[in-house]
Amino acid sequence: MTDKTDDLDDKLADDLDHTFDEDDEIEWYQPDDPTPRHACPCCDYVTLPERHMYLICRVCFWEDEGPEFEEDPMEPSGVNHGFTLAESRQNFKTIGACHPDMVRHVLPVEDRSQYAYKPREH
Ligand SMILES: [Zn+2]
Repeated sequence: MTDKTDDLDDKLADDLDHTFDEDDEIEWYQPDDPTPRHACPCCDYVTLPERHMYLICRVCFWEDEGPEFEEDPMEPSGVNHGFTLAESRQNFKTIGACHPDMVRHVLPVEDRSQYAYKPREH
């Protein structure tokens, strides 16, 4: 006998477990023109071809959700594991990634120079 609810929960947990297990490239939304134009709201490197399209910053691995997180950096971001932009900025300063789990995914520090750096005014 199979409990469908348990199966579904297991599958969801499984999916979550595997999200970052693979070492090969993860499939994200890819804009037609991948040229980086916009500074990441977390690390300030110009890594984002488009804004607010859930693109992942290669430098800090912040996921570029909606503009509300820049308007209110204390607002927890669901797609960023519940971290606020303020916390993620602090994480980037201390551990070089927006979130402790993302440290192994971010670009090596020596490779950051391929992106322009535009510190925020405030
Ligand atoms: Zn970033």
